[in-house]
Amino acid sequence: MRCRQCGKDWSGLKMCHCSRCHRTFSTLAVFDAHQPASTGWDCQDPAKNKFVTDDRGIWKYPKTARYTESETVSTSGGTS
Ligand SMILES: [Zn+2]
Ligand SMILES: [Zn+2]
Repeated sequence: MRCRQCGKDWSGLKMCHCSRCHRTFSTLAVFDAHQPASTGWDCQDPAKNKFVTDDRGIWKYPKTARYTESETVSTSGGTS
């Protein structure tokens, strides 16, 4: 899919693109987190919430966090 306004494209059914700040998010949960109700649904910088971007600039949960992401869950068990 491609945003008509900023020209970014992305793929993946679960991904969300914000029409206000034009960031792309790996899941709806990350999208929701950047627009907290406490700020009146204003777009926040996801980096402030410790989110990270992958090499395509898509915001997602940091690997170190114990969030349960519905997508791929590694079974190898990371070392910290
Ligand atoms: Zn936004
Ligand atoms: Zn856009």
